Amino acid sequence: MPQVLSLGELLVEMMRPAVDQPLDEPGQFVGPFPSGAPAIFVDAVARLGMSCGFIGVVGDDPFGRCVTRRLEADGVDMCHVRVVSHRTTGIAFVSYRSDGSRQFLFHLPESAAALLSPEDVHEDYLRGVRALHVTGSALSVSESSREACYRAIDLCKQYGAMVSFDPNIRPELLGVNVVRTLCEPVLQSCDILLPSGAEAAMLTGDADEDTACRALVARGVPIVVLKRGARGCVVFTEQGRVEIPAYRVTEIDPTGAGDAFAGGFVVALLRGMSVTEAARFASAIGALAVTRQGPMEGLPTLAEVQTFMNSVQE
Ligand code: ATP
Ligand code: MG
Repeated sequence: MPQVLSLGELLVEMMRPAVDQPLDEPGQFVGPFPSGAPAIFVDAVARLGMSCGFIGVVGDDPFGRCVTRRLEADGVDMCHVRVVSHRTTGIAFVSYRSDGSRQFLFHLPESAAALLSPEDVHEDYLRGVRALHVTGSALSVSESSREACYRAIDLCKQYGAMVSFDPNIRPELLGVNVVRTLCEPVLQSCDILLPSGAEAAMLTGDADEDTACRALVARGVPIVVLKRGARGCVVFTEQGRVEIPAYRVTEIDPTGAGDAFAGGFVVALLRGMSVTEAARFASAIGALAVTRQGPMEGLPTLAEVQTFMNSVQE
């Protein structure tokens, strides 16, 4: 039985090979790269050698096989991934701008991923789980996907598993109030919250990310980890605030760093590391993740992380 579980959208990513190639002009793409925030998380966990499983839906098509084959090959239990013939696998098109921003085009609400529902979440499968990871993206793909997440959280809390939450919802699509409403039940139950600065600010309404993270701890989230890309991360708990610098690497593709970081953080805590040690370990995985094109391509094994942490300067 898997010790770590995630659920939500499985998709492939097609990206522009160079910066400043907008999506509204003809041109080249590279891909398909296996992707989906909760899928990148679980792949990071599998690469680190911890038993894990995934609950999701793909189409019976080449893109579905691309992502499921990768997760399977890396050791993720895919017994609870459903394959449907009447919808195609989710797709994200991505273009990077030279100012560091990204342009996304998603084929998701109409994709197989949106069919995830509470019936896909089997109680027996969750009984032995020690950690569940939930993403804002899976809460926003469809109502049934959201209900599946809420059910998984309820069951995991009953069985004493820890719940981590990455609130990676784009407010420009849903509006801030809707996003807050969707996240509220998860904020009430999660043990670990992993926001970016903008996400923390959006959740509380505080303009300052530090103030927002303190407010999230004050309202009862035991561990809040603020992710700041190449500027590293900050861990907030009742004990206070600890800054962890980023490792210095050459960033090739930032997409998925946050999910890889979350996978590393959860694995580290389950292995008995302190919160600060776990954040340092997770930073190494986030750093390695950005060194390769494609969200899962840079995910390291445990041995690779250890070699990297011993060899580079923070
Ligand atoms: P995404 O939404 O694309 O998955 P995110 O915004 O959730 O990413 P980031 O802050 O970009 O998450 O990355 C998570 C962590 O990974 C950072 O806190 C940092 O430790 C590490 N990291 C990310 N980018 C870099 C970088 N360019 N150099 C070194 N470390 C990085
Ligand atoms: Mg993120």
